[in-house]
Amino acid sequence: MYGRDLRFPLFLAGLLCALPAPAGELRLHRYTVGVDEALQQISVRACFDGPAPHSLVAESLDASLALAEARIEGTRTRLEPNGAELGLAGMQDDGCLNYRSALLIHGGRHQGSSGAARRVGPDVVTDVGTWLWRPRSLAQNEDVELRFILPQGLSVSAPWTAVRDAQGGITAYRLGRTPHDWPAAVAFGSFREREIDTGGARLRVALLHGAPAVEWDLVRQWLTRAAEAVSTSYGRFPVDEAQVVVVPGARGDEPVPWAFVLRGGRPALHFFINQREPLAAFMVDWTAVHEMSHLLLPYVRAEDAWLSEGLASYYQNVLRARAGMLPVAEAWQRMHAGFRRGMRSMPGTSLAAATERMHRDGAYMRVYWYGAALLFMADQRVRERTQGRHSLDTLLRDLRACCLGGRQAWQAVRLFAKLDQLSGTGVFSELYEQHIASTRFPDLAETYRRLGIGPNASGESIELLAQGPRIADRDAIMSPPSGMSPPAGMSPPFGTLAPTGMSAPSGIARPDQR
Ligand SMILES: [Zn+2]
Repeated sequence: MYGRDLRFPLFLAGLLCALPAPAGELRLHRYTVGVDEALQQISVRACFDGPAPHSLVAESLDASLALAEARIEGTRTRLEPNGAELGLAGMQDDGCLNYRSALLIHGGRHQGSSGAARRVGPDVVTDVGTWLWRPRSLAQNEDVELRFILPQGLSVSAPWTAVRDAQGGITAYRLGRTPHDWPAAVAFGSFREREIDTGGARLRVALLHGAPAVEWDLVRQWLTRAAEAVSTSYGRFPVDEAQVVVVPGARGDEPVPWAFVLRGGRPALHFFINQREPLAAFMVDWTAVHEMSHLLLPYVRAEDAWLSEGLASYYQNVLRARAGMLPVAEAWQRMHAGFRRGMRSMPGTSLAAATERMHRDGAYMRVYWYGAALLFMADQRVRERTQGRHSLDTLLRDLRACCLGGRQAWQAVRLFAKLDQLSGTGVFSELYEQHIASTRFPDLAETYRRLGIGPNASGESIELLAQGPRIADRDAIMSPPSGMSPPAGMSPPFGTLAPTGMSAPSGIARPDQR
């Protein structure tokens, strides 16, 4: 009975929310966020511009476990979440909500889905989904501004669009309109966020606590080199701004044993590094180039992870060769070795099935290198059919212009159709049709023959032949596209650092998200 009585005013509130604000006028909901000195708890005052939504949502179901207390300002009623939803019945126009949550949850049942949450020495990486109660969606003329009030000496790293003062200092963040259930992470700690401007992009880097401590200069050189390599795709870095979180764990037998990309807010890069490795190993490592290459595509849904992983696996070698991080012959060799691993891994498993079972069965090699093989074949065929007018690089450049900042997870079939439209060919859809359900690893013999790549007798390695019908395309693949010179500020010619002691075979499987 009580529940039914409540429904009517809620329905009215919903109507009020739907009324459009005057054209051009931004409705800005203001969140003031504070943490305690020990980084145990977060407190939020959320004030709404006009009518509040009838409820707020969190990305993780664990948000209800983390929530210590929530009250509408000026009332004594304690709000209780229903799962990942927090009703705001009774809130007046321009009203405020106050709540407190644990920064990290111990023994959460659902785990924040970013996978980033952890304590790093005195610093903390939080899963936004466990503490940010926000409107489910935002209208065109609506945003949430988050302002952090932090104890002396503490800083924040956040993935949203930075609002800056006249001196360029960050004063707040705008949440933006990516879906509420795209994972995001915010770090708090005694670090100082530093910025790297490269390839037309600004990387906002938080280097968290490490033992041994990490030289900023190592991180700066490593990330700059990787971003420059990625900018050889089409002359600039794919996004304008990105949050970068570097966690020095001093573990693992390679410089960057684990990394992933998150998409909530603006794209974010998370790297776990072994700071005991020398700078030279970081400067030729594949991981940062792989992760940054993910940003060349919009968010592709998890069921089609072969597409995003395939692109990153293909480009981790191509772009490093272009940037001089890897000799060209070595890049081809590494790709060939990757294809061999993909072929031998889970033979008889279709691409769709391997992708579905990727995390459960450890089918990473099959998924990553099957996807890479398709993109390699597509790149070769597009170059040939368009007489060099198009390549994977130019198509990704054009994709950036139309589709990179989207708010939907793409299906591979749609994204491939888009690439066909951009190239004026049917190359991608043909490959999709032929391979998505096939249980045989793609046969690369014809692609190799056209490019003048000859497998040796055992098939274990390859040689670059002096002849082949499309041998110029082989060279073009490993060169920065002509007419796409790097933006000012980058340092051509790209590095000439000799690859010393290749630390890891490319394509090591890791839980690598989005
Ligand atoms: Zn990846």
